[in-house]
Amino acid sequence: MLFRLAPNTPSFEVFRLLNEELLYFFEQIVNSDTFSRVLFTQEAVGQACWDNKPTRDKFKGLWDSINAAGLRTKQQLLNTMQSNQNLQVFFGTPQRDLLNFMNEHCREALKLLCTHLYCSTKDLAPIITAAGGVDIKAHFNAYRAQTVNGNICKACGMEKLAPFRANTPDKDQWRADYDHQLCKSKYPIFAVHPDNLIPLCDVCNQDAKKAKDLFRDEDKKARLAFYPFNEEAKDYINIGFEQLHDPEPIIKVKWNAPDGTILDKLNTWDEVYEIRNRVEGQFRSLEAIIEDELNPNSLADVRRKIAGKARPLSPNTLKRKEWAYWYHKLFSELNLIDLAPFAAKWEFIQQQATDGGDYILNPP
Ligand SMILES: [Zn+2]
Repeated sequence: MLFRLAPNTPSFEVFRLLNEELLYFFEQIVNSDTFSRVLFTQEAVGQACWDNKPTRDKFKGLWDSINAAGLRTKQQLLNTMQSNQNLQVFFGTPQRDLLNFMNEHCREALKLLCTHLYCSTKDLAPIITAAGGVDIKAHFNAYRAQTVNGNICKACGMEKLAPFRANTPDKDQWRADYDHQLCKSKYPIFAVHPDNLIPLCDVCNQDAKKAKDLFRDEDKKARLAFYPFNEEAKDYINIGFEQLHDPEPIIKVKWNAPDGTILDKLNTWDEVYEIRNRVEGQFRSLEAIIEDELNPNSLADVRRKIAGKARPLSPNTLKRKEWAYWYHKLFSELNLIDLAPFAAKWEFIQQQATDGGDYILNPP
């Protein structure tokens, strides 16, 4: 994450209840050889899971395969689920082969169940009632309140979570999708863990991350990742310039990591969300940035405006405005360097100095 989550981030009660129900089911199956109502809690959530046929069928599917696999697998599943409920601890010492003790059948049935709990069961009316009436839209609105996390994606700082629409009640506002930090396909037991689900922008969630594993890279090499609730990348980033004497210097995102662990986490964050590619893509033309963001009429005006943009940003702006962190970082670095070598070649400055800006109102 570029920014850690706010300390007052609300937990989503529906996920907490479903996670508890799943854990209860794993406890009950250890000593049971029949699939029946007693495998579910006596509470409303247990009743809803039993009454809803598609949900019950997925529980039954897992029960069938795990019962065939035997007692040892049941005990290991329970033990794995119980001993990994603290995700902060898990991020510190990730268990990358969490479900290797299960056969393929069991793993597939577990994935089907957990995906179904996340995709469908969470929206059942009795479950939402049991969670105090807070459905996922209400949770999202509370999550992105300006006094909590704001509407900017915590992973990248480049995109809004979802646009606000005027004349639209809260319940009808658009929402962002929730990202499973630990993806459902490799870590299904965390599919409804309340600390594993974070609303992210579409680019981070759907284009960049998809089902990437936070703890293994493409070559299966082990790696670490920032824990979103208490770790962030924002203090370990620099913007650098290459080929400063060209009219178009190259803008680079660089790490400023104090140790190897932070460096590893920065590289994971970068690979998972394609941070550097996206920032360097946005910043591919310094000339265009100066023209679009500053609209200057002379080199002195460029310097003045860059100094203004380098002033510290309010935390509220960072929670409200997409790209604010990155442009501030860029202008802060630009404020420290001599622009004259390449600014002399910026045609639009000379043109504006000549035309005095009239050409905008009265195009030739
Ligand atoms: Zn994002």
